[in-house]
Amino acid sequence: MSDTFIIGCHLSFSKGFCAMGADAVSIGATAIQFFTRNPRGGVAKAIDADDVAAYNELAAANGIITLLAHASYTLNLCSGDKRIRKFAEETMADDLLRMELTPHQLYNFHPGSHVGQGIEAGIELISGALNRILTPEQTTTVLLETMSGKGSEIGGKFEELRDIIDRTEQNEKLGVCLDTCHVYDAGYDVVNDLDGVLAEFDRVIGIRRLRAIHINDSKNPFGSHKDRHEKIGMGNLGVEALARIINHPLLRSLPFLLETPNELPGYAEEIALLKKLRK
Ligand code: FE
Ligand code: FE
Ligand code: ZN
Repeated sequence: MSDTFIIGCHLSFSKGFCAMGADAVSIGATAIQFFTRNPRGGVAKAIDADDVAAYNELAAANGIITLLAHASYTLNLCSGDKRIRKFAEETMADDLLRMELTPHQLYNFHPGSHVGQGIEAGIELISGALNRILTPEQTTTVLLETMSGKGSEIGGKFEELRDIIDRTEQNEKLGVCLDTCHVYDAGYDVVNDLDGVLAEFDRVIGIRRLRAIHINDSKNPFGSHKDRHEKIGMGNLGVEALARIINHPLLRSLPFLLETPNELPGYAEEIALLKKLRK
C-alpha cells in the first residue's frame, strides 16, 4: 500500500511555529506535537500572527498534515483543590482559542489525577469542565489520552474515558489519543493481542473516536502502571509489535507521534526506521 504515512514526533515550540515546522521538515516528519506552553503551566507567549501564517504555508508546501498540541501535563481538571481545577480549565480554554489560528487540528490532554476523591468524582469534575470549555464553534478536536493508571490517574481504563465522553454534551468535539507505552503499562496487551485490544477499544469507546497514536516503547513490563517511555525497539514492546501497530488496517491512516527519549537526530533515525517498516 502507498497511502500517506503521517509520522512525526514531539518538537520544541520555544522558537515559534515556523522554527518548529522547519525542524519537522529537517527530520522527514509529516506530523508535529508540541506543548502549548511551559509544562509547569506558565503564561503562553503571545501568538505572532505572521509566524502562524508562515507556518501554515510551510506546512502545506512540505506535506505536514497533523499538528497535535499537547496541554501541559501538570494541568489537572479533577484536582481536589478548586484553584488548581480553575487554573486548568482557564488554561485549556485559552489554548483552544489559540488553536483556532491553526484550525481543524488536534489538542491532547491527560484526563487528570483524582488525588483521593475517587474515580467517579474525578470523572464528574472532568466532564463538568469540558462542558464549560468546549464550544460549538471550535474546529479543534480535543483528545483524551489513554494513561498508564499510575497513582490516582484517570484514563488507565477505556471505560473511564468512555464515561467522560458520555457525560460531555459537546462530545462530537472529543476523541482519544492512544499512547502505546501507556496502554501496555495499563495492562492492554498490544504486543500479543493487538486485535483484541482494538476490539475492546471499539466495544467500549468506539473506534471512530480514535484520532491519534503516541508511538512509544516502554521501559517497564506489561501491566506495571509506570509510564516511562523508551526508544523504539529498546523496550518491552519491541520493534515488531510497533511495526504491527503502524501497519494495522484500523490504525494506519491515523497520525503517529513519537514521544521517545530523543533529541532531533534520534527522532530523525526513528522516523526513518518506522518509514522503512511501513508496508
Ligand atoms: Fe501525554
Ligand atoms: Fe503520550
Ligand atoms: Zn507518558
